[in-house]
Amino acid sequence: MAQEDVFKKIVSHCKEYGFVFPSSDIYDGLGAVYDYGQNGVELKNNIKQYWWQSMVLLHENIVGLDSAVFMHPTVWKASGHVDAFNDPLIDNRDSKKRYRADVLIEDQIGKYEEKIEKEIAKARKRFGEAFDEAQFRSTNPRVLENEAKKSALHERFAKAMGEMNLDELKQIILDEEIACPISGTRNWTDVRQFNLMFKTEVGSTADGASTIYLRPETAQGIFVNYLNVQKTGRMKIPFGIAQIGKAFRNEIVARQFIFRMREFEQMEMQYFVKPGTELQWFEQWKQTRMAWHQALGFGAENYRFHDHEKLAHYANAASDVEFRMPFGFKEVEGIHSRTDFDLSQHAKFSGRKIEYFDPDINESYTPYVIETSIGVDRMFLSVLCHAYQEEKLEGGDTRVVLKLPAALAPTKLAIMPLVKKEGLPEKAREIMDELKFHFNCKYDEKDSIGKRYRRQDAVGTPFCITIDHETLNDGCVTLRDRDTMQQERVPVSELRARLEDKVSITSLLKKLC
Ligand code: ATP
Repeated sequence: MAQEDVFKKIVSHCKEYGFVFPSSDIYDGLGAVYDYGQNGVELKNNIKQYWWQSMVLLHENIVGLDSAVFMHPTVWKASGHVDAFNDPLIDNRDSKKRYRADVLIEDQIGKYEEKIEKEIAKARKRFGEAFDEAQFRSTNPRVLENEAKKSALHERFAKAMGEMNLDELKQIILDEEIACPISGTRNWTDVRQFNLMFKTEVGSTADGASTIYLRPETAQGIFVNYLNVQKTGRMKIPFGIAQIGKAFRNEIVARQFIFRMREFEQMEMQYFVKPGTELQWFEQWKQTRMAWHQALGFGAENYRFHDHEKLAHYANAASDVEFRMPFGFKEVEGIHSRTDFDLSQHAKFSGRKIEYFDPDINESYTPYVIETSIGVDRMFLSVLCHAYQEEKLEGGDTRVVLKLPAALAPTKLAIMPLVKKEGLPEKAREIMDELKFHFNCKYDEKDSIGKRYRRQDAVGTPFCITIDHETLNDGCVTLRDRDTMQQERVPVSELRARLEDKVSITSLLKKLC
């Protein structure tokens, strides 16, 4: 099945099974805004818990914070967002559709990459075992030609973005003959800057309302609380502050479902370090964060780092963790070495001294910062994309199954009486009443057992138990594993011990230590 079709299926699966709904659905939705349904909210909470615990429980020197969405407007002047948080936009005059000029060009770079990958896949099939990819890459004329085009484009693009040269961005689009995917034409307007921050007003207009912004990142809430946390927590450098919260960006293009939203959630951690040590910490956090992703078991080949050549004005190193989505490798998380830019700017704009007195060297300095910034929703999407599978079963049947890591699954255990009578529902309820304190259980007595299994497969429940007539005599139930579909008899008294380790976040956290 084409990857595009797989993605469409995932989107409709999300709606059908209560993971993600369009916002204000009865009014036909609101662009790039989504709501999480009964299963989505559980999966999302588990992702957040996995991240939070990996930061705050596993690191003695990382503490949490929950700062407000609204902040003093000068925060965004100091951070550079008022002047520079812009995306270059371009319109197609025929379709009247709006695009991000940089994304159009990045997609074009992606097309060259795809062509190269296709050549390699074809050759691998042809040569089998004997295939030497490195040699093929360095000698095949079509690969070399596409590599050359790709790197020339990349270089030109990076330069234009670095200088924010809008005319050059348009010229690249024209030279590469990039057409609008809707109208198919190349009738483009000029490229313009567009600030992504949402504005609103605080206070009643009568006594002078002032313009404030919905925060476009959670990080600034951490920077402005650096002194509060450092002092009250008596934190010694290096230390980190972690926060999970909503962020808002007036994204030009609403695309790819929850990949790019106007209201989304971030999990950010700012790690304050001694100047001069930041690049070591940057490398260390890259490894730590990659290990966090890979502990989910989705396969190392589905991740890669993308090191930035064009750095934001505040950064001296930056790298993205990219995951293989059905629409290509895409950024899920950014790891940035932000220097002392933010703290220095806030010191300048607030007139406060924002420093750290280092008792080891008897000196004060402005700490440098390594940031790890991951989108909850993008992470959610990557988990779902990897988990969604359509399997052919013996006998010609198919099943749709979400092979979610058990620790992230919305429901851990479905409890099913074989029939709705003869004391089986009562026994099932009794088991549920004991286990519900330990993990998320769902009771289900409707339809045949086969149909109930399919329903649980579709929402990723890793285990089901069936209570039958024998249970009343021998105290055992049938435990069914989602992935292998194997069934075994297990004493009710052993269920908790058997499952708890497999379904708890602790099982993931232990892989990180
Ligand atoms: P992109 O280049 O895709 O716009 P970005 O580089 O602007 O992303 P950052 O500012 O580094 O993103 O934000 C950190 C993380 O927040 C991203 O890696 C992503 O997971 C998430 N994120 C950013 N913008 C959005 C959005 N509009 N919708 C959902 N998640 C987002």
